[in-house]
Amino acid sequence: MLIGALEAGGTKMVCAVGKEDGTILEQVSIPTSTPEETMPRILEYFSSKEIKALGVAAFGPVDVNPASPSYGCILDTPKIPWRQFDLLGSLKEKIHVPMGLDTDVNGSCLGEMTYGCAKGLDSVIYITIGTGVGVGVCSGGRLVHGMLHPEGGHVLLTRHPEDPNGGICPYHPNCLEGFASGPSIEARWGKKAVDLKDNPKVWEIESFYIAQALVDYIMILSPQKIILGGGVMHQEQLFPLIRGKVKELIGGYLNTPELRDLDQYIVPASLGGDQGIMGCIKLGLNALC
Ligand SMILES: [Zn+2]
Repeated sequence: MLIGALEAGGTKMVCAVGKEDGTILEQVSIPTSTPEETMPRILEYFSSKEIKALGVAAFGPVDVNPASPSYGCILDTPKIPWRQFDLLGSLKEKIHVPMGLDTDVNGSCLGEMTYGCAKGLDSVIYITIGTGVGVGVCSGGRLVHGMLHPEGGHVLLTRHPEDPNGGICPYHPNCLEGFASGPSIEARWGKKAVDLKDNPKVWEIESFYIAQALVDYIMILSPQKIILGGGVMHQEQLFPLIRGKVKELIGGYLNTPELRDLDQYIVPASLGGDQGIMGCIKLGLNALC
């Protein structure tokens, strides 16, 4: 059985066809320009495939509540041409198969839980740290939504004492995304993260912010595993720094087997960049049930 997968990102739309076991048979990438330019290409791609369902993981904010009148619409995104665009509706007009929709980060979380390093667990968080910061949450086997969906990239943090200029989020002077996204690293140091590998101060400050956020997530959501993906997390030297600071900030208050083995608890994404598109396959499969 073939399942369609659409990972709708802010810069590119990845369209793929895969199987129930998560195998991706083919995929193409289409630039996210405007709905008028981009959507016909997506519709053409999936119309020519014999898919039984389609899973969509979209950049946000996006309405993921099936009971809402604007279900499937992109909401107040900074990407102006996509604001209020009915993504799911425009797919449904042309492609007549069951469809499942969630946020991009919930999709990646689901991909890792179905096919990757979080298989068999039911409470997991997936954090992407790249152009922006997003957090996908699965709790008790359900991807968490609520009034909209979690926006864990914007949790408020204590500023690093040596980071006087700090955050670049237009909404919050001291949130995780404003402090720790790729663009905020570039704003702080005048260079891209990839060119700062050998400057330990950069990663000291970066891990200070990420660890604080992780401790907040740990205290509130009690995840069984935390997966960190996105471009900034390609800086693998961050992992030991983050684990060390998480341990320090928890301060011995929690004592679980997971926290005693932080190398297995706070981990990189395991599916080689395919966690999002594989999550879409599972979203599609779920829509068939
Ligand atoms: Zn913010």
